[in-house]
Amino acid sequence: MTFYKNHKEKLELLQSGKLNLVDNVNHFLKNIEDQKDLNAFNFVFEEETIKSAKAVEQKIKNNTAGKLAGMVIAIKDVLAYKDHPLTCSSNILKNFTSLYTATAVQKLIDEDAIIIGKTNCDEFAMGSSNENSAFGNVLNPVNKTRVPGGSSGGSAVSVAANLCDVSLGTDTGGSIRQPAAFCGVYGLKPTYGRVSRYGLTAFASSFDTIGPFAKSVEDAALVMEVISGKDENDSTSVKKEIPNYLSSLSKSKKFKIGIPKEYFAEGLDEEIRDAILDIVDELKLEGYEVKDVSLPMTEYTIATYYILTTAEASSNLARFDGARYGFRAADYKNLNEMYLNSRTQGFGKEVKRRIMLGTYVLSSGYYDAYYRKAQKVRRLIKEDFDKVFSEVDLLITPTTPTVAFKIGEKSDDPLQMYLSDIYTTSANLAGIPGISIPIGKNSENLPIGLQILSPQFEEEKIFLLSIHIQNEITK
Ligand code: GLN
Repeated sequence: MTFYKNHKEKLELLQSGKLNLVDNVNHFLKNIEDQKDLNAFNFVFEEETIKSAKAVEQKIKNNTAGKLAGMVIAIKDVLAYKDHPLTCSSNILKNFTSLYTATAVQKLIDEDAIIIGKTNCDEFAMGSSNENSAFGNVLNPVNKTRVPGGSSGGSAVSVAANLCDVSLGTDTGGSIRQPAAFCGVYGLKPTYGRVSRYGLTAFASSFDTIGPFAKSVEDAALVMEVISGKDENDSTSVKKEIPNYLSSLSKSKKFKIGIPKEYFAEGLDEEIRDAILDIVDELKLEGYEVKDVSLPMTEYTIATYYILTTAEASSNLARFDGARYGFRAADYKNLNEMYLNSRTQGFGKEVKRRIMLGTYVLSSGYYDAYYRKAQKVRRLIKEDFDKVFSEVDLLITPTTPTVAFKIGEKSDDPLQMYLSDIYTTSANLAGIPGISIPIGKNSENLPIGLQILSPQFEEEKIFLLSIHIQNEITK
């Protein structure tokens, strides 16, 4: 029932009548039911999905369907979708219903995609293993003793386990790329400002991005084409021409590629290193120019990321106070106690840790030592990238230092957990785009992800190198 490689093929099958869209969505709904143990979804919209499938079938027949006609998409449960639940996998938003629809989600619907449900994730997108969810852990479909990565674990799993065609996740420090690597699918984090954040529940507003998980570069490119663009409702979205990402995939160009030495240093799993360098060797053989480069500020990225994102989170999450939105504690004697009890009972452990860290780094006396200093380091990290991108077009790195780790392995050690983002947080600090592409498996049969980074707004180059690797090297 999913004997197509990408949306273009699916659409042709639908148009020629060889594939029935209602059968197709029923197939996904059945997969979701059969693989319930993965816990990938917080909510599945069964009836609605079937209803939309019927409506889109009709549009396809009438030749009035949009370019995502019949693409079945799951969205991370931090994105607003009017009249549907929005929980951010947190008890504090239990029973909360969205009053409006996120721009990115609306753009999908406007092109006749079908929203099948909302995916599980780490609470408020804080985490790297999907173990911080009020809805419980998500399992990695490749090996159920392993985490799927996070925070967009459910979105990655929904694509990897064939529970939908494509999904949307969010990436503040790696939450699309890291789970994509752990589950063996494609995951793109766009340039900051490329996709409107309107309707995305804010974690760290100057880092947050929305992007696709897909089974092919083509589908990731197509979805990006649809969700990109300036939006009056997000002042940080950028007015800049949106390339035809999908049709430009037929171009071919031998980019100059940089290999940042800091991303291949101590702490990197050897099998991952070898797998990435094998691909790089292959590219060299094909005549790509490959150059060793250095990003000397890399060692400060995790510290800088955790100072700045917790500061922003502590401010963004202040609105969840029991008076507005969702949950309110039942037991309180006065207003202060209502705030205190609602937040104590509503937030999970990791979210509380971040709020406390963020409040601390912003407090008078520590603001200069931590927050202000980290802002300056952020600038230096950005300058590192500006410098290397004056010498090369793209960078190739591992997405993660290890493959998917065991459930429970790092849950008592936040620092170890934070280190799984060592190669991904830099892109969010610098606002640049990055993709993780699956390049094979290690000796334990666990997926390995390769990351490609580019300067801001040059997603097109990322897609071009990705499709070359997909079609010619890892095929
Ligand atoms: N794992 C990182 C964190 O916990 C990144 C999260 C994200 O990108 N949303 O902050």
